[in-house]
Amino acid sequence: MECKQEANKAKCPCTYPCSRRGLCCECVAYHRSRGELPGCYFPPEAERTYDRSIAYFVRLHQGRR
Ligand code: SF4
Repeated sequence: MECKQEANKAKCPCTYPCSRRGLCCECVAYHRSRGELPGCYFPPEAERTYDRSIAYFVRLHQGRR
């Protein structure tokens, strides 16, 4: 399977300058190892805080149905 980095980059909403952008396998592994989620899990205004913690993600979604 060929790497889809360029196609993934075109759809990636992450705004942090990062060499893993578009390399979703590396991105997920990196954030998972830190107890975090990738930037694409967060809405735009939250993504721009660069807080990728699961606690922040849960706070954002508490009360949502
Ligand atoms: S979510 Fe994290 S690892 Fe993924 S591209 Fe953005 S800054 Fe890089």
